[in-house]
Amino acid sequence: MIPEIEELYQEVILDHSRRPRNFGELPDAAVLVHGDNPACGDEINLAVKFDTSGGLQDIKFTGRGCAISQASASLMTMKLKGKSREEVLEMLHAFHDLVTNETNEAPKKLGDLRVMRGVRNFPLRVKCAMLAWRAVEQALEQGVGEAIVSTEPA
Ligand code: ZN
Repeated sequence: MIPEIEELYQEVILDHSRRPRNFGELPDAAVLVHGDNPACGDEINLAVKFDTSGGLQDIKFTGRGCAISQASASLMTMKLKGKSREEVLEMLHAFHDLVTNETNEAPKKLGDLRVMRGVRNFPLRVKCAMLAWRAVEQALEQGVGEAIVSTEPA
């Protein structure tokens, strides 16, 4: 990849880690998921509210950790807010492929999330990038209440 592009990607990641979007509490959330990435010390609290057909009506997070983990969460919430359950799962799989599969092209539908493709070269960073997505996956599975997820096996 040409260096100018890499630099632009860095800027997007830094911007989102410094000024995360959809950051804060969601008082009427249906499900709260605490995500933990012990390998790096990243933490995220994801709050999700569903619409009547199970789509993501609203999604917010708080957290702390490295720039990759927080920027990935910020970009993710922007992308998933208002999406149907099917679209969320589709995006989840596309993002997972993006950060793990070196032969894959970056699908257009991922938009700004494509800046995360660089982490595929750094296995530990993949966990940072996936943390928020593990949390949203758990939120969909659980649907209501509170849950905990970790990037490490229990
Ligand atoms: Zn991290």
